[in-house]
Amino acid sequence: MEKKVLIVGSGLGALSTALRLSSMGYSRIKIVEKYHSPGGRLNILKDQGFTFDMGPSFFSMSYEFDELFKACGMNNPLKFRKLDPLYSVNFAGSERLFRIFTDLDKLAAEFEGIEPNFKEKAQKYLENAGKIFHDTEYKVVKSNFNSTPSYLLSLAQVPWKHAPRMFYSMWTDLENTFESEEAKVIFSLVAFFLGATPFDTPAVYKLLSYTELVHDGYWNVEGGMYKITEAMVKELEQRGVQFEYGVEISDYIAKNGKVTGFTDTRGNIHEADIMVVNADAASFRGEIFKRPKFSEEKLDKMDWTLAPFTIYLGVKGKIEGLNHHNYFLGSNFRDYADKIFKLSVNPEKPYYYVTASSKSNPECAPEGCENLFILCPVPDMRYKPNWSDAEALADVIIKDLGDRVGYDISSNIITKIVMPPTEWKDKLNLYKGSGLGLAHGLNQIGAFRPKNQDEEFDNVFYVGASTTPGTGLPMVVISSRLAVERIAEFDKKQEPVLA
Ligand SMILES: Cc1cc2nc3c(=O)[nH]c(=O)nc-3n(C[C@H](O)[C@H](O)[C@H](O)COP(=O)(O)OP(=O)(O)OC[C@H]3O[C@@H](n4cnc5c(N)ncnc54)[C@H](O)[C@@H]3O)c2cc1C
Repeated sequence: MEKKVLIVGSGLGALSTALRLSSMGYSRIKIVEKYHSPGGRLNILKDQGFTFDMGPSFFSMSYEFDELFKACGMNNPLKFRKLDPLYSVNFAGSERLFRIFTDLDKLAAEFEGIEPNFKEKAQKYLENAGKIFHDTEYKVVKSNFNSTPSYLLSLAQVPWKHAPRMFYSMWTDLENTFESEEAKVIFSLVAFFLGATPFDTPAVYKLLSYTELVHDGYWNVEGGMYKITEAMVKELEQRGVQFEYGVEISDYIAKNGKVTGFTDTRGNIHEADIMVVNADAASFRGEIFKRPKFSEEKLDKMDWTLAPFTIYLGVKGKIEGLNHHNYFLGSNFRDYADKIFKLSVNPEKPYYYVTASSKSNPECAPEGCENLFILCPVPDMRYKPNWSDAEALADVIIKDLGDRVGYDISSNIITKIVMPPTEWKDKLNLYKGSGLGLAHGLNQIGAFRPKNQDEEFDNVFYVGASTTPGTGLPMVVISSRLAVERIAEFDKKQEPVLA
């Protein structure tokens, strides 16, 4: 009898894994999800004719989705749209808007009068970043490692010329490249995707600038990002995969070194032969398996990415001063970066990101209106557990945005939803509200990241942002490929156990 697979969580990691497994012939797959709808962070909110992507608003490495669909015998059901410009950046106190184009001549024009010889400097920086990307993509990012030595061996195969950049920061590299604060800050924004600041991110991660500006750029999806989730769920349902929502796993049953079932908060037992955990790979080990290495005290000592403070606004009127993707930065970058992880956000100088997806997806807002998604990175709940000031903070950010784009947003709000880190935690079990999961310092990547096969129960596998290789939509799709490789190796050695 064919083996049963249970997947805990229905984020992109889960959906990609289920698609791959069903294509390999597994036909008894069940997905249980705590939230009321699928997608995890790749979710949707709807109110009064507005729809909002709850989390991700763009992605890099679009070819990872193409690979996934191809490997699963499907035509890509989504229409991807390349962003051009990628985004725009405004610094507080300045009228200037930097539009970030992938065309270097157009990009250089944005820095005219700010950064002398911008094009030559950017070209050199990006060439080096590209070499790092291509020298590590397959050896480090897209491989499973069976042990720390095998990981270190792979690292040793990366050309040694990149090694020094492990030991100094991205900011130092940028200081050696550009003169203007504006160019340095804009090129350093990629560090925040890793959950760190450019001052403590190793310079090797400049490879992310190559992925955004040269390699494949940024993409979003016609109709909104949630189309990804909808398309995958539709395909899985057609393939007979079962979904159960509002089911939170809280305990497990094990026998002979295998987990035979997960128990939910209502006491129901979900049995299977193969278990895939899409919940956070670190906190699940602590909270459900009670592993001392992942106790709350130990988890708190790990490095986590910043928490999201998100605001979803349905606004009457069209806002000319906004593009599809926009960064609004303060004017005190070093001070901001020093404090943002541990101290509360400074309401007088907020740094935030805004997507107005109605600019290119008119169906996301009623006619003549905009749907705004505002993301302000804030310290996680280890440092700020109480968010009773969420509404007040949201109002400050909305006022700041209105002033900077020259539109009275506050008086034209039709709907407003505010989600502080506490809500992200409650809805999706994000550890202490951390938005992207475990951070990507050298001590938390590769063999040092929580593994995608459990240490104790060999039929339990992990997929998603906090296991290998890391966070972000394309990484999570890669993570499903690596997890499925593990499952295939495991399954080859097993006999069916459940009827
Ligand atoms: C605000 C925000 C903006 C982002 N923007 C971008 C972006 O623009 N581009 C990009 O590439 N990435 C972005 N990311 C990161 C990206 O969303 C994640 O890396 C990715 O979606 C993680 O997918 P996942 O499958 O690992 O986990 P998740 O999407 O978190 O899915 C895990 C699922 O498991 C469920 N679960 C947890 N515990 C249990 C349990 N005990 N029982 C049952 N179910 C459980 C959760 O409810 C959740 O649905 C963003 C993230 C956030 C929060």
